[in-house]
Amino acid sequence: MTLSAADFATDAHGWAEFLPPRRPAPPPSGTLRADWAVIGAGITGLAAARRLAELNPDHRILVLEARLVGQGASGRNSGYAVTASHFAGGYRPDEAGNYRRVNRINTAGLGILRDQVETLRIDCGWHEGGIYHTAADAASMREYEAFAHYLNQLEIAHTPLSPEALASRLGTGLYRAGLHVHGGALLQPAALVRGLSDSLPSNVQLYEQSPVLRLEDGAPAVLHLKGAEIHADHVVLAANYEMGKLGFLHRYMLGSTLSGSFTRLLTPEERAALGSLPEWGVLSLHTGGATVRLTAEGRICIRNTAEYNGDALLSPQQLATRRALHRDGFERRFPQLAHVPFEYSWSGVEGLTRNGTNFFGRKRANIYLAGGYNGSGVSRGTAFGTAIAEFACGADSDLIADCLASAPGQWLPPRPILDIGAFFTVRKRFMGVGQDR
Ligand SMILES: Cc1cc2nc3c(=O)[nH]c(=O)nc-3n(C[C@H](O)[C@H](O)[C@H](O)COP(=O)(O)OP(=O)(O)OC[C@H]3O[C@@H](n4cnc5c(N)ncnc54)[C@H](O)[C@@H]3O)c2cc1C
Repeated sequence: MTLSAADFATDAHGWAEFLPPRRPAPPPSGTLRADWAVIGAGITGLAAARRLAELNPDHRILVLEARLVGQGASGRNSGYAVTASHFAGGYRPDEAGNYRRVNRINTAGLGILRDQVETLRIDCGWHEGGIYHTAADAASMREYEAFAHYLNQLEIAHTPLSPEALASRLGTGLYRAGLHVHGGALLQPAALVRGLSDSLPSNVQLYEQSPVLRLEDGAPAVLHLKGAEIHADHVVLAANYEMGKLGFLHRYMLGSTLSGSFTRLLTPEERAALGSLPEWGVLSLHTGGATVRLTAEGRICIRNTAEYNGDALLSPQQLATRRALHRDGFERRFPQLAHVPFEYSWSGVEGLTRNGTNFFGRKRANIYLAGGYNGSGVSRGTAFGTAIAEFACGADSDLIADCLASAPGQWLPPRPILDIGAFFTVRKRFMGVGQDR
């Protein structure tokens, strides 16, 4: 199959639209030579490029991004950088080692990101106040018990919260129970990736709106773009669920499309009706439940849909219908704000694997890849991106060992069987969601 720029569609609805206009880095032209080419300027690719540059100050590193920085999942997510992952489906003692491994990776990623945000003075609203995990209905109450047990077993710092305590902190009486996990940060995702890309070391050159249309194996590898060819000694593939387009992980990852909405800025009186905290982030203990944030600037952001849409963003018409679901979730939580309109809705595509694993490693003599974090890639993608750069440079570390220990991905069938399977998988995700949506 021959790819074209049309295979990398995007839209102008995301967190990037809250930021000031920015001049994109122009695409390359002609034949270029590089020591390293990084494909994808999301969290993984940017972390990899930075680390490669630190380890090889004399090398030339090129980053190719199909869209504008901030238009991929890294700029469209809900902005939670977690330390403790929630493994849905109950605590399994035989999985404790795996839970610890994933949480070590998350924690390493959060630490790297914190240092970068501080050192590079990235203005992304970084707020390290922990994360709320909540339950509003019967199924999530069962998950609440399991998650509390998991946090206790793994000695993860947290505070259980009654419905009254949640209501006074978050301004909603919907939740029947909650756990505040002390670790974890909230941030503006598009501001983060823009900040990371605008502060890349001087031996890194970024090209935006520059999809790699074909990757030719060899020494050097050859990257074919419209109007340009790049000969690179080494390649790091950080293209998330789109790696299949270049012939990697085909049938091991798919895109799940999520959507959410933001209210307009709340007035001081409306904010006062929301409880005592200046900002907060809630993750549902139900897999189909809503992710809800009060952002630092004073908007409520709610994301509560997920579906298989052929790896694509939602069309404006699709988004308009999903907005009714966002609205319902918002008004059930905050009846005191029922008069507050939504200003903005957006969708984003996350990379899913069938068995919830992540990908990390060497795929050819000089091609490495990292990605596929199943909706939890802000801290983990930072760790994977950093570690894949170190691994590709021949290093050995506990973090690399943890990333390499990711379970192999499970095979996905081709379309149309994939569509049917994905439809039922997504339906299962929402089973029993009830009031948590
Ligand atoms: C709505 C939503 C909410 C989420 N919420 C959270 C959250 O709160 N916390 C969390 O941890 N995770 C969350 N996630 C998941 C998280 O966003 C991802 O796991 C993470 O951003 C993945 O980073 P990445 O760099 O690997 O991939 P991406 O951010 O997808 O970056 C890959 C980049 O590669 C580019 N690309 C692809 N193919 C090519 C090519 N051929 N040539 C050049 N460039 C190419 C793409 O344009 C893209 O920019 C969410 C995801 C979505 C969609």
